[in-house]
Amino acid sequence: MRRYRNTKIVATLGPSTRTKRQIRALIMAGVDVFRLNFSHGEHSDKKSRVTAIRELEKELDRPVAIMADLQGPKLRIGEFKDGAIELAPGENFSLDLKEQLGSKSRVQLPHTEIFDAAEADMELLLDDGRIRLRVQKVSKSVIDTKVVTGGRLSARKGVNVPGVTLGLSALSEKDKSDLEFALGLGCDWIALSFVQRPSDVKEARKLIADRAAVLIKLEKPAAIDHLEELMTLTDAVMVARGDLGVELPPEKVPGLQKKIVKLCRKWGKPVVVATQMLDSMVHSPSPTRAEASDVATAVYDSADAVMLSAETAAGEYPIESVDMMNRIILEAEGDEAYQASTTSKQNVVEPTVSDAITLAARQVAETVNANCIVTYTTSGSTTLRAARERPTVPILCVTSSLSTARRMAIAWGIHSVHIDQEERFSTVVKRAVDIAETQGFASSGDHIVITAGVPMGKSGSTNVLRIERIP
Ligand code: PGA
Ligand code: MN
Repeated sequence: MRRYRNTKIVATLGPSTRTKRQIRALIMAGVDVFRLNFSHGEHSDKKSRVTAIRELEKELDRPVAIMADLQGPKLRIGEFKDGAIELAPGENFSLDLKEQLGSKSRVQLPHTEIFDAAEADMELLLDDGRIRLRVQKVSKSVIDTKVVTGGRLSARKGVNVPGVTLGLSALSEKDKSDLEFALGLGCDWIALSFVQRPSDVKEARKLIADRAAVLIKLEKPAAIDHLEELMTLTDAVMVARGDLGVELPPEKVPGLQKKIVKLCRKWGKPVVVATQMLDSMVHSPSPTRAEASDVATAVYDSADAVMLSAETAAGEYPIESVDMMNRIILEAEGDEAYQASTTSKQNVVEPTVSDAITLAARQVAETVNANCIVTYTTSGSTTLRAARERPTVPILCVTSSLSTARRMAIAWGIHSVHIDQEERFSTVVKRAVDIAETQGFASSGDHIVITAGVPMGKSGSTNVLRIERIP
């Protein structure tokens, strides 16, 4: 099963997407990576979804990545007696530490750090900034506020305190237990939420210990101040526009998106553009024109992946949302302007053997009009370098490491093929020809370009470039 686009689709699973049948339909419509959001739902639900994905992977013969998105130190209110309340401007509303279901006048906010940081006149933003509360009075366990902007408020909505760096640690106790659970399920990517400092990533990496790849979500202004250093520590990045656009004024988000995508390309690290991409499709079978344009912009900027959140997790049209995203990507990638900007040679090449080979592979592929570049890899690092070049042909990631095959599903232009056994160098060419043909990338008379490393199976050893004509 192959796709005819480079930009990947990440879809969040939730109440709207539970069954194996639904998950199959999502993959068929175009999903490359599934996100499990640990801010919601039970462990048992996540486990059954992972089981379904792994079964479908075998049935469809296509590696699929699973991303466990940890809640991180996000502040959330508790739950309400009647599910939700309605707040009107001017009304009084309190947040406190009491473990009691909320009412129209109060709700639990189970984070002592915020009671230490809050001051009179400060604004608290709830539910992605939809609701604004102005602090009136603060004590050790109660914050009294007045509603500035009202609306419906339901259980466990997020709370942002813009401009304040809270003394929260990178991973809560819940995150640590969710992390062990996710690693036990064999998740391929761990997404870290609300990263503020480089030490947050180091701490998480120590716990993950190479059992999964790490993606940092950029949703705090503090993280933006440490971008370069964070890039050295992470495997991938998410432009988490939801919280970023609450913590910062929304007008700052588009420019930052472009800057972050460009920086990730420079580093050769996959970047996902996320949140509200087709938001109106939560309740409507077609998107707004602005949303279609937003998805296309991320594609033109050459992001590795675009993401669906509520659209697939809780929406009424999950399959339609993926289908729409797929169509927008195909249309943008088919545009001459996309090809001119994305594949233009704009990278600084690093003086390594691996970069020399991957750059040459791209040039050779274009010169002889090859159908694909087949990369043999162990860790996926050479394949990612090839993707960084944004070649005009697909990149095959051939690996005996199932976790590498799955992880690469998030990256631009990469089609993973898992092989049972480490290839011997003598059979590399024959095997590559075979794979390119059976996976539908080339047929008799076509050229393919192959990169490999001798000795085989050693990470970071790419040193061979071969051009082969399919007999
Ligand atoms: P979330 O992260 O959906 O977990 O909040 C994405 C974002 O903030 O944009
Ligand atoms: Mn977020």
